[in-house]
Amino acid sequence: MLKIAILEGDDIGLEVVPEAVKVMKAAAAKTGLQVEWLPLPIGRKGHETHGHTMPAATVEALAAVDGWLQGPIGHNAYPRNDPTWINPPLRKKFELFANIKPVKSYPNLPSLHKDVDIVFLRETTEGMQSGSVVFAGSGEFRPNDDISIGMRVVTRKGANRVAREAFEVARTRRRKKVTALHKEPVFRLVCGMFAEECRKVAREYADVEFEEVLIDGFAMKLVMKPQQYDVVVTTNQFGDIITDEGAGLVGGLGLAPGLVVGERQAMAQATHGSAPDIAGRNIANPYAMIMSGKMLFEWLGRKRGDARATAAAARIESAVDKVIAEARHLTGDLGGKAGTTQMGDAIASAV
Ligand code: NAD
Repeated sequence: MLKIAILEGDDIGLEVVPEAVKVMKAAAAKTGLQVEWLPLPIGRKGHETHGHTMPAATVEALAAVDGWLQGPIGHNAYPRNDPTWINPPLRKKFELFANIKPVKSYPNLPSLHKDVDIVFLRETTEGMQSGSVVFAGSGEFRPNDDISIGMRVVTRKGANRVAREAFEVARTRRRKKVTALHKEPVFRLVCGMFAEECRKVAREYADVEFEEVLIDGFAMKLVMKPQQYDVVVTTNQFGDIITDEGAGLVGGLGLAPGLVVGERQAMAQATHGSAPDIAGRNIANPYAMIMSGKMLFEWLGRKRGDARATAAAARIESAVDKVIAEARHLTGDLGGKAGTTQMGDAIASAV
Protein backbone atom coordinates (compact mmCIF):
# COMPACT_ATOMS: atom_id res chain seq x y z
CA MET A 1 0.00 0.00 0.00
CA LEU A 2 1.37 3.43 -0.99
CA LYS A 3 0.78 6.44 1.20
CA ILE A 4 0.40 9.68 -0.77
CA ALA A 5 -0.34 13.09 0.72
CA ILE A 6 -2.41 15.77 -1.01
CA LEU A 7 -1.28 19.37 -0.51
CA GLU A 8 -3.52 21.59 -2.59
CA GLY A 9 -1.63 24.86 -2.14
CA ASP A 10 -3.30 28.14 -3.10
CA ASP A 11 -5.48 29.64 -5.84
CA ILE A 12 -5.66 27.26 -8.86
CA GLY A 13 -3.94 24.61 -6.74
CA LEU A 14 -7.39 24.09 -5.17
CA GLU A 15 -8.71 23.28 -8.66
CA VAL A 16 -5.94 21.38 -10.43
CA VAL A 17 -4.74 19.17 -7.56
CA PRO A 18 -8.21 17.54 -7.09
CA GLU A 19 -8.23 16.76 -10.85
CA ALA A 20 -4.85 15.06 -10.56
CA VAL A 21 -6.05 13.03 -7.58
CA LYS A 22 -9.22 12.08 -9.47
CA VAL A 23 -7.18 10.78 -12.41
CA MET A 24 -4.66 8.98 -10.17
CA LYS A 25 -7.48 7.28 -8.26
CA ALA A 26 -9.06 6.11 -11.53
CA ALA A 27 -5.72 4.69 -12.70
CA ALA A 28 -5.01 3.01 -9.35
CA ALA A 29 -8.46 1.39 -9.40
CA LYS A 30 -7.77 -0.02 -12.88
CA THR A 31 -4.43 -1.58 -11.98
CA GLY A 32 -5.27 -2.73 -8.44
CA LEU A 33 -2.80 -0.30 -6.87
CA GLN A 34 -3.65 0.35 -3.23
CA VAL A 35 -3.15 3.95 -2.13
CA GLU A 36 -3.89 5.62 1.16
CA TRP A 37 -4.57 9.30 0.42
CA LEU A 38 -3.76 11.83 3.11
CA PRO A 39 -4.98 15.45 2.64
CA LEU A 40 -2.80 17.90 4.58
CA PRO A 41 -3.06 21.69 5.00
CA ILE A 42 -0.39 23.93 3.47
CA GLY A 43 -0.26 27.54 2.32
CA ARG A 44 -3.24 29.76 3.09
CA LYS A 45 -5.27 26.79 4.36
CA GLY A 46 -2.41 25.92 6.71
CA HIS A 47 -2.48 29.45 8.06
CA GLU A 48 -6.24 29.39 8.59
CA THR A 49 -6.17 26.10 10.47
CA HIS A 50 -2.73 26.08 12.16
CA GLY A 51 -1.53 29.70 12.06
CA HIS A 52 1.34 28.83 9.67
CA THR A 53 1.69 28.26 5.93
CA MET A 54 3.84 25.21 6.70
CA PRO A 55 2.20 23.66 9.77
CA ALA A 56 4.47 21.46 11.91
CA ALA A 57 1.78 18.74 11.82
CA THR A 58 1.96 18.70 8.00
CA VAL A 59 5.74 18.37 8.02
CA GLU A 60 5.54 15.57 10.58
CA ALA A 61 2.91 13.70 8.56
CA LEU A 62 4.92 14.11 5.33
CA ALA A 63 7.90 12.34 6.89
CA ALA A 64 5.83 9.14 6.92
CA VAL A 65 4.48 9.15 3.34
CA ASP A 66 5.90 7.75 0.10
CA GLY A 67 5.27 10.98 -1.76
CA TRP A 68 2.90 13.86 -2.21
CA LEU A 69 1.20 16.20 -4.65
CA GLN A 70 2.06 19.82 -4.01
CA GLY A 71 -0.15 22.49 -5.54
CA PRO A 72 1.38 25.92 -6.27
CA ILE A 73 1.82 28.37 -3.41
CA GLY A 74 0.69 31.96 -4.02
CA HIS A 75 3.43 33.35 -1.82
CA ASN A 76 3.80 36.69 -3.64
CA ALA A 77 0.50 37.69 -2.06
CA TYR A 78 1.56 36.69 1.49
CA PRO A 79 2.24 39.39 4.10
CA ARG A 80 5.96 40.28 4.09
CA ASN A 81 8.24 39.93 7.11
CA ASP A 82 5.84 37.66 8.98
CA PRO A 83 7.55 34.32 9.72
CA THR A 84 4.20 32.50 9.78
CA TRP A 85 3.63 33.37 6.09
CA ILE A 86 6.45 31.63 4.23
CA ASN A 87 6.81 29.74 0.98
CA PRO A 88 7.07 26.23 2.52
CA PRO A 89 10.67 25.02 2.01
CA LEU A 90 9.67 21.39 1.51
CA ARG A 91 12.45 20.57 -0.97
CA LYS A 92 15.10 21.56 1.51
CA LYS A 93 13.32 20.02 4.49
CA PHE A 94 13.05 16.60 2.82
CA GLU A 95 16.30 16.81 0.85
CA LEU A 96 14.64 16.46 -2.51
CA PHE A 97 17.71 16.70 -4.70
CA ALA A 98 16.53 16.54 -8.31
CA ASN A 99 13.77 18.25 -10.20
CA ILE A 100 12.67 16.07 -13.10
CA LYS A 101 10.90 17.98 -15.84
CA PRO A 102 9.66 16.35 -19.01
CA VAL A 103 9.14 18.37 -22.16
CA LYS A 104 6.86 16.71 -24.67
CA SER A 105 5.24 18.03 -27.84
CA TYR A 106 1.84 16.87 -29.09
CA PRO A 107 1.06 16.66 -32.83
CA ASN A 108 -2.12 18.76 -32.59
CA LEU A 109 -1.01 21.40 -30.07
CA PRO A 110 0.92 24.51 -31.10
CA SER A 111 4.65 24.22 -30.35
CA LEU A 112 7.91 25.50 -31.84
CA HIS A 113 8.98 21.93 -32.67
CA LYS A 114 7.27 18.56 -33.11
CA ASP A 115 8.49 15.13 -31.96
CA VAL A 116 10.13 16.56 -28.86
CA ASP A 117 10.35 14.16 -25.92
CA ILE A 118 13.00 15.16 -23.40
CA VAL A 119 13.31 14.62 -19.66
CA PHE A 120 15.42 17.22 -17.85
CA LEU A 121 16.98 16.59 -14.46
CA ARG A 122 18.08 19.65 -12.53
CA GLU A 123 20.10 19.24 -9.34
CA THR A 124 18.34 21.27 -6.62
CA THR A 125 20.31 21.16 -3.38
CA GLU A 126 23.55 22.84 -4.41
CA GLY A 127 24.99 24.90 -7.28
CA MET A 128 24.53 28.65 -7.37
CA GLN A 129 21.05 29.13 -5.93
CA SER A 130 21.82 31.17 -2.82
CA GLY A 131 19.20 29.74 -0.46
CA SER A 132 19.97 26.10 -1.08
CA VAL A 133 23.76 26.03 -0.80
CA VAL A 134 24.28 27.12 2.79
CA PHE A 135 23.15 25.86 6.19
CA ALA A 136 22.61 29.38 7.52
CA GLY A 137 22.79 32.78 5.90
CA SER A 138 22.98 33.17 2.15
CA GLY A 139 25.23 31.99 -0.67
CA GLU A 140 25.88 35.58 -1.67
CA PHE A 141 27.25 38.53 0.19
CA ARG A 142 28.42 42.13 -0.33
CA PRO A 143 31.55 43.02 1.60
CA ASN A 144 31.25 46.65 0.49
CA ASP A 145 28.92 48.57 -1.75
CA ASP A 146 31.07 48.01 -4.85
CA ILE A 147 31.52 44.24 -4.65
CA SER A 148 29.01 41.37 -4.65
CA ILE A 149 30.12 37.76 -4.35
CA GLY A 150 28.10 34.63 -5.12
CA MET A 151 29.06 31.07 -4.30
CA ARG A 152 28.65 27.90 -6.32
CA VAL A 153 28.82 24.54 -4.60
CA VAL A 154 29.21 21.12 -6.22
CA THR A 155 29.75 17.99 -4.13
CA ARG A 156 30.59 14.49 -5.32
CA LYS A 157 27.55 13.14 -3.50
CA GLY A 158 25.18 15.73 -5.01
CA ALA A 159 26.50 15.27 -8.55
CA ASN A 160 26.60 11.49 -8.29
CA ARG A 161 23.04 11.03 -7.08
CA VAL A 162 21.45 13.28 -9.71
CA ALA A 163 23.53 11.58 -12.43
CA ARG A 164 22.43 8.17 -11.16
CA GLU A 165 18.78 9.25 -11.21
CA ALA A 166 19.22 10.42 -14.82
CA PHE A 167 20.61 7.04 -15.88
CA GLU A 168 17.80 5.23 -14.06
CA VAL A 169 15.23 7.37 -15.89
CA ALA A 170 17.02 6.78 -19.22
CA ARG A 171 16.87 3.03 -18.69
CA THR A 172 13.05 3.20 -18.68
CA ARG A 173 12.96 5.00 -22.02
CA ARG A 174 13.17 3.85 -25.61
CA ARG A 175 16.25 5.81 -26.68
CA LYS A 176 18.27 5.29 -23.49
CA LYS A 177 20.54 8.30 -23.84
CA VAL A 178 21.86 10.73 -21.22
CA THR A 179 23.29 14.16 -22.06
CA ALA A 180 25.21 15.88 -19.25
CA LEU A 181 25.45 19.68 -19.44
CA HIS A 182 28.33 21.65 -17.95
CA LYS A 183 31.12 24.05 -18.85
CA GLU A 184 34.16 22.15 -17.66
CA PRO A 185 36.71 23.92 -19.86
CA VAL A 186 36.01 27.13 -17.91
CA PHE A 187 34.76 26.00 -14.50
CA ARG A 188 37.34 23.26 -14.14
CA LEU A 189 36.69 22.48 -10.51
CA VAL A 190 32.92 22.79 -10.05
CA CYS A 191 31.76 21.75 -13.51
CA GLY A 192 34.75 19.39 -13.56
CA MET A 193 33.53 17.53 -10.50
CA PHE A 194 29.99 17.33 -11.90
CA ALA A 195 31.32 15.92 -15.19
CA GLU A 196 33.61 13.42 -13.40
CA GLU A 197 30.70 12.03 -11.40
CA CYS A 198 28.50 11.77 -14.50
CA ARG A 199 31.28 9.83 -16.29
CA LYS A 200 31.75 7.58 -13.28
CA VAL A 201 28.03 6.71 -13.17
CA ALA A 202 27.92 6.29 -16.96
CA ARG A 203 30.44 3.44 -16.70
CA GLU A 204 27.91 1.49 -14.60
CA TYR A 205 25.21 1.83 -17.27
CA ALA A 206 26.67 0.26 -20.37
CA ASP A 207 23.17 -0.02 -21.88
CA VAL A 208 22.70 3.78 -21.82
CA GLU A 209 24.41 6.07 -24.33
CA PHE A 210 26.23 8.99 -22.70
CA GLU A 211 27.36 12.34 -24.07
CA GLU A 212 28.55 15.65 -22.65
CA VAL A 213 27.58 19.00 -24.15
CA LEU A 214 28.72 22.46 -23.07
CA ILE A 215 25.80 24.41 -21.63
CA ASP A 216 26.05 27.43 -23.94
CA GLY A 217 26.17 25.33 -27.10
CA PHE A 218 23.32 23.22 -25.74
CA ALA A 219 21.11 26.31 -25.34
CA MET A 220 21.47 26.85 -29.09
CA LYS A 221 21.19 23.20 -30.14
CA LEU A 222 18.06 22.76 -28.05
CA VAL A 223 16.32 25.53 -29.96
CA MET A 224 17.52 24.28 -33.35
CA LYS A 225 17.10 20.51 -33.00
CA PRO A 226 15.54 19.38 -29.70
CA GLN A 227 14.65 15.96 -31.13
CA GLN A 228 18.26 14.79 -30.66
CA TYR A 229 17.95 14.77 -26.84
CA ASP A 230 16.43 12.16 -24.54
CA VAL A 231 17.43 12.58 -20.86
CA VAL A 232 19.39 15.71 -19.94
CA VAL A 233 21.08 16.24 -16.57
CA THR A 234 22.72 19.36 -15.20
CA THR A 235 23.54 21.51 -12.16
CA ASN A 236 21.08 23.78 -10.38
CA GLN A 237 21.28 27.13 -12.13
CA PHE A 238 21.96 25.80 -15.62
CA GLY A 239 18.94 23.57 -15.08
CA ASP A 240 16.79 26.41 -13.84
CA ILE A 241 17.33 28.30 -17.10
CA ILE A 242 17.38 25.43 -19.57
CA THR A 243 14.16 23.80 -18.28
CA ASP A 244 12.25 27.03 -18.93
CA GLU A 245 13.71 27.08 -22.44
CA GLY A 246 12.54 23.50 -22.82
CA ALA A 247 9.01 24.32 -21.64
CA GLY A 248 8.90 27.19 -24.12
CA LEU A 249 9.65 24.79 -26.98
CA VAL A 250 6.42 22.87 -26.49
CA GLY A 251 3.81 25.39 -25.44
CA GLY A 252 4.81 26.90 -22.10
CA LEU A 253 3.62 26.72 -18.52
CA GLY A 254 0.32 24.85 -18.90
CA LEU A 255 2.24 21.90 -20.36
CA ALA A 256 5.13 21.73 -17.88
CA PRO A 257 4.85 19.03 -15.21
CA GLY A 258 7.52 18.17 -12.67
CA LEU A 259 8.60 15.73 -9.99
CA VAL A 260 11.08 16.66 -7.28
CA VAL A 261 12.76 13.53 -5.94
CA GLY A 262 14.83 12.52 -2.95
CA GLU A 263 16.36 9.20 -1.91
CA ARG A 264 13.09 7.95 -0.39
CA GLN A 265 10.27 10.34 -1.29
CA ALA A 266 9.08 12.44 -4.21
CA MET A 267 6.89 15.49 -4.65
CA ALA A 268 4.70 16.02 -7.71
CA GLN A 269 4.75 19.72 -8.52
CA ALA A 270 3.83 21.49 -11.75
CA THR A 271 6.11 24.27 -12.97
CA HIS A 272 3.36 26.90 -13.08
CA GLY A 273 2.46 29.12 -10.14
CA SER A 274 -0.87 29.62 -8.43
CA ALA A 275 -2.26 31.83 -11.23
CA PRO A 276 -4.42 34.11 -9.01
CA ASP A 277 -5.60 35.91 -12.17
CA ILE A 278 -7.67 32.90 -13.25
CA ALA A 279 -8.30 31.17 -9.89
CA GLY A 280 -11.80 30.05 -8.92
CA ARG A 281 -13.16 30.15 -12.50
CA ASN A 282 -12.75 26.51 -13.49
CA ILE A 283 -10.55 27.46 -16.46
CA ALA A 284 -7.06 26.44 -15.26
CA ASN A 285 -5.39 23.71 -17.29
CA PRO A 286 -4.96 20.61 -15.10
CA TYR A 287 -2.51 18.90 -17.53
CA ALA A 288 0.71 19.81 -15.68
CA MET A 289 -0.59 18.69 -12.30
CA ILE A 290 -2.08 15.47 -13.70
CA MET A 291 1.17 14.59 -15.48
CA SER A 292 3.13 15.43 -12.32
CA GLY A 293 0.93 12.90 -10.49
CA LYS A 294 1.62 10.40 -13.26
CA MET A 295 5.35 10.94 -12.72
CA LEU A 296 4.93 10.25 -9.01
CA PHE A 297 3.33 6.86 -9.78
CA GLU A 298 6.07 6.15 -12.32
CA TRP A 299 8.84 6.99 -9.84
CA LEU A 300 7.24 4.98 -7.02
CA GLY A 301 6.78 2.07 -9.43
CA ARG A 302 10.50 2.15 -10.21
CA LYS A 303 11.77 2.80 -6.68
CA ARG A 304 9.48 0.36 -4.89
CA GLY A 305 9.46 -2.23 -7.68
CA ASP A 306 5.65 -1.91 -7.84
CA ALA A 307 4.43 -2.95 -11.30
CA ARG A 308 0.91 -1.72 -10.52
CA ALA A 309 2.14 1.84 -9.93
CA THR A 310 4.14 1.68 -13.19
CA ALA A 311 1.04 0.43 -15.03
CA ALA A 312 -1.13 3.16 -13.46
CA ALA A 313 1.33 5.80 -14.71
CA ALA A 314 1.26 4.32 -18.22
CA ARG A 315 -2.54 4.40 -18.20
CA ILE A 316 -2.56 8.08 -17.25
CA GLU A 317 -0.10 8.93 -20.01
CA SER A 318 -2.17 7.11 -22.66
CA ALA A 319 -5.39 8.73 -21.39
CA VAL A 320 -3.83 12.21 -21.58
CA ASP A 321 -2.52 11.46 -25.11
CA LYS A 322 -6.01 10.36 -26.14
CA VAL A 323 -7.83 13.39 -24.68
CA ILE A 324 -5.33 15.77 -26.28
CA ALA A 325 -5.52 14.01 -29.67
CA GLU A 326 -9.35 14.07 -29.63
CA ALA A 327 -9.26 17.76 -28.66
CA ARG A 328 -12.85 17.74 -27.40
CA HIS A 329 -12.16 18.40 -23.72
CA LEU A 330 -9.28 20.88 -23.62
CA THR A 331 -9.04 24.08 -21.59
CA GLY A 332 -8.91 27.51 -23.21
CA ASP A 333 -5.11 27.85 -23.12
CA LEU A 334 -4.92 24.69 -25.28
CA GLY A 335 -7.43 26.08 -27.75
CA GLY A 336 -10.49 24.30 -26.30
CA LYS A 337 -13.59 25.35 -24.40
CA ALA A 338 -13.66 22.82 -21.55
CA GLY A 339 -13.39 23.72 -17.89
CA THR A 340 -10.77 22.34 -15.51
CA THR A 341 -13.16 19.71 -14.20
CA GLN A 342 -14.37 18.65 -17.67
CA MET A 343 -10.80 18.06 -18.84
CA GLY A 344 -10.05 16.16 -15.64
CA ASP A 345 -13.21 14.07 -16.03
CA ALA A 346 -12.38 13.27 -19.66
CA ILE A 347 -8.87 12.08 -18.71
CA ALA A 348 -10.19 10.07 -15.74
CA SER A 349 -12.72 8.30 -17.93
CA ALA A 350 -10.14 7.67 -20.67
CA VAL A 351 -8.00 5.96 -18.02
P1 NAD B 1 1.88 31.74 -12.73
O1 NAD B 1 2.54 30.54 -13.28
O2 NAD B 1 0.96 31.53 -11.61
O3 NAD B 1 1.06 32.46 -13.89
C1 NAD B 1 1.65 33.00 -15.09
C2 NAD B 1 0.59 33.05 -16.19
O4 NAD B 1 0.29 31.73 -16.64
C3 NAD B 1 -0.74 33.64 -15.71
O5 NAD B 1 -1.31 34.41 -16.75
C4 NAD B 1 -1.58 32.42 -15.43
O6 NAD B 1 -2.97 32.66 -15.57
C5 NAD B 1 -1.08 31.42 -16.45
N1 NAD B 1 -1.17 30.02 -15.94
C6 NAD B 1 -0.40 29.45 -14.99
N2 NAD B 1 -0.77 28.19 -14.77
C7 NAD B 1 -1.81 27.95 -15.60
C8 NAD B 1 -2.65 26.82 -15.81
N3 NAD B 1 -2.48 25.68 -15.15
N4 NAD B 1 -3.64 26.95 -16.74
C9 NAD B 1 -3.82 28.08 -17.43
N5 NAD B 1 -3.06 29.19 -17.27
C10 NAD B 1 -2.08 29.13 -16.35
O7 NAD B 1 3.04 32.77 -12.34
P2 NAD B 1 2.95 34.15 -11.55
O8 NAD B 1 1.72 34.91 -11.99
O9 NAD B 1 4.27 34.77 -11.71
O10 NAD B 1 2.79 33.76 -10.03
C11 NAD B 1 1.53 33.66 -9.35
C12 NAD B 1 1.79 33.19 -7.93
O11 NAD B 1 2.33 31.87 -7.93
C13 NAD B 1 2.79 34.05 -7.16
O12 NAD B 1 2.36 34.17 -5.83
C14 NAD B 1 4.07 33.26 -7.27
O13 NAD B 1 4.93 33.56 -6.22
C15 NAD B 1 3.54 31.85 -7.18
N6 NAD B 1 4.41 30.79 -7.75
C16 NAD B 1 4.39 29.61 -7.09
C17 NAD B 1 5.11 28.53 -7.60
C18 NAD B 1 5.08 27.24 -6.85
O14 NAD B 1 4.55 27.17 -5.77
N7 NAD B 1 5.62 26.16 -7.40
C19 NAD B 1 5.81 28.67 -8.81
C20 NAD B 1 5.78 29.89 -9.48
C21 NAD B 1 5.06 30.95 -8.95
